[in-house]
Amino acid sequence: MKNIAEIRADFPILSRKVYGKPLVYFDNGATTQKPQCVLDAVDEVYESYNGNIHRGVHFLSDMSSEAYEKAREKVRSFINADKREEIVFTSGTTGSINGIAFSFGERYIKPGDEIILSHLEHHANIVPWQMMCERKGAVLRVIPINDKGEIILDEYYKLLSSKTKLVSVTQASNALGTILPVKEIIAAAHSVNVPVLIDGAQGIQHGIVDVKAMDTDFYVFSGHKIYGPAGIGVLYGKEKWFSELPPFQGGGDMVDKVTFEKTTYNELPFKFEAGTMNYPAAIGLARALDYVLSIGRENIASREKELLSYATGRLSAIKGLKIYGTSDRKISTISFHIKDIHQYDTGMILDKIGIAVRTGTHCAQPVMDRYGIDGTVRASLCFYNTKEEIDTLADGIEKVKSMFA
Ligand code: PMP
Repeated sequence: MKNIAEIRADFPILSRKVYGKPLVYFDNGATTQKPQCVLDAVDEVYESYNGNIHRGVHFLSDMSSEAYEKAREKVRSFINADKREEIVFTSGTTGSINGIAFSFGERYIKPGDEIILSHLEHHANIVPWQMMCERKGAVLRVIPINDKGEIILDEYYKLLSSKTKLVSVTQASNALGTILPVKEIIAAAHSVNVPVLIDGAQGIQHGIVDVKAMDTDFYVFSGHKIYGPAGIGVLYGKEKWFSELPPFQGGGDMVDKVTFEKTTYNELPFKFEAGTMNYPAAIGLARALDYVLSIGRENIASREKELLSYATGRLSAIKGLKIYGTSDRKISTISFHIKDIHQYDTGMILDKIGIAVRTGTHCAQPVMDRYGIDGTVRASLCFYNTKEEIDTLADGIEKVKSMFA
């Protein structure tokens, strides 16, 4: 494995300064920084072979189409899907969930049907289902969490019934860091023939994702959270579902034959890709996945585990600092609050020291409601972060405390 200095040198932005201070980037849960090879991959498209995909007979269009389809193949092998037909590009996790919520609702949902979510969901895995429920007269059921921020599996088992039509849960909580027991969740749903969608926005970048071993029906994630460009995401679905579901958007490329009377749809996966896709970003994402593989997913996971443990130790030693999300199974995310200091004040002062953290509800208001708080400060770490940066954060928090003393 490359050493940490070599890894950091791959990410040009990490050497910049903010307000004259070295940047400490702890907002990886919101978006990750990009290695030079990803920046180059996107530049290369526009500089040397840009042409709209699947459209032209000309050289550039062919080259772009080929690179785009290679990107699809890269995603397929990265998540260990069976077939390229099961990989659909979207605009991101939000785009993927909205698409499935619409299609699934149109195809299968009747008044009184139920969709199960967990209390840990990001708004992107709540609102699209709520919109679908409103349209179809269906009902959301929610798996509760305990004080550590873990879902209560026994309560989940009780919620599963003949009314349940789909379970949609996150792989890891963006607000607290909790890793969910997705294998158990999926096995229980399948035992009563209910499909499952896993929101991988906070899962894919922290370890090995194998959709076949997981046996999930749908898996979604965003390119920008795994060192790829923004504006590209993935919707994985088992072929059996994709062949039955109607498209969620109409337009160019997703069609076979169009007349004013009737349209027939293109084969999989194109049936779900309407209009000009963000092919440069898909190509950039494929390069990002190659980069992750070159570092090694086990190496990334073990480095992040070490950083999490060090950061948890340093931060929990600070008097007045409370960590929300204390499960033993966490991604490298720490959500906290300092007694009597508003999270925005903490975030703003840390920013002036060059430390980027996220503050607020993290698009997970129900999680905050569960604890009766209006937000936290969140430090989300990844493999390019260092223990020295964690020390800078701990010193910064002491400084915040002394300013408010
Ligand atoms: N789900 C989770 C768990 C997330 O963390 C996020 C992003 N914070 C999303 C969904 C939405 O991702 P995007 O904004 O890239 O669509």
